[in-house]
Amino acid sequence: MPESVGVMGGTFDPIHFGHLAAAEEARVRLGLARVVFVPNGQPPHKAGYVVTAAEHRYNMVVLGIAGNPHFEASRVEIDRSGPSYAVDTVKSLAGRLPADTRMYFITGADAILELLTWRDPEQLAQVCEFVAVARPGYDLDDIRRALGEELSRRVHYLDIDGLATSSTGLRKRAAEGLSLRYLTPDPVAGYVVSHGLYRELKCDREICGRD
Ligand code: ATP
Ligand code: MG
Repeated sequence: MPESVGVMGGTFDPIHFGHLAAAEEARVRLGLARVVFVPNGQPPHKAGYVVTAAEHRYNMVVLGIAGNPHFEASRVEIDRSGPSYAVDTVKSLAGRLPADTRMYFITGADAILELLTWRDPEQLAQVCEFVAVARPGYDLDDIRRALGEELSRRVHYLDIDGLATSSTGLRKRAAEGLSLRYLTPDPVAGYVVSHGLYRELKCDREICGRD
C-alpha cells in the first residue's frame, strides 16, 4: 500500500504543543506514516517582529519532536536561499520518496487561508492534499466557504478541541520572564532559557510603526 506522509511547515519560533498536537491528530486520523516538520527559511520579518535565526528554530523543532518516532525535522527550507514556496518544499520532499507516496500539507485553520494568497494553489493541490486542523478563534466553516468548493475537495478538515497556544504568546511570556513549561516540551523551554531567546521582543520599529 502506498505510504502517506504529512508535511508541516511553519516559522516554529518556537515550536509548541499546539503544533505537536495538530501534527499528531493529522497523523492518527489520516493514517500518516510520518510527519515532517519544515521550519521556514529566514524571512526578514513576520507580522511585525524579527524572526529568530533559522538554526535556533530548527534546533528547537528537533528537541520538540524527540520521542515521537513518527516525527522528523527537515532542513530543506533553511538550507535553501531565498523564499521557499510550499509547492517546491513538497516536491523536494516527495522526490526522495516512492513515486506513489501521498503527500499531505498540514496547517492550522489560520494558515490554510493563506492558500488563497499562495502563488499557485492549484499547482500545490496537484502535488498534495491539505489538512486543516482547528485552531481556537478560526471557524472551519468560514474557511471552507472562503476556499471554495474546488479547493475544499482537497482539504481534510479536522475539527478538534484545538489548543490556543501560539508562538507569539510564548515569545511574549518569555519576554516577561514567565515560564514556558507545559506550553512546549521541557527541552524546548530549557533551550529558550539557556540561549536567552525572546528576552526582549525584537520588534522592528519600522515594521511596527511605533517605539
Ligand atoms: P506565530 O504566533 O509566530 O504566528 P504560530 O503559533 O502561529 O506562531 P507558526 O509557526 O506560525 O506558529 O505555525 C505553523 C503551523 O502550525 C501553521 O499551519 C499554524 O496554523 C499551525 N499552528 C500553530 N499553532 C497551532 C495551534 N495551536 N493549533 C493548530 N495549529 C497550529
Ligand atoms: Mg502563525
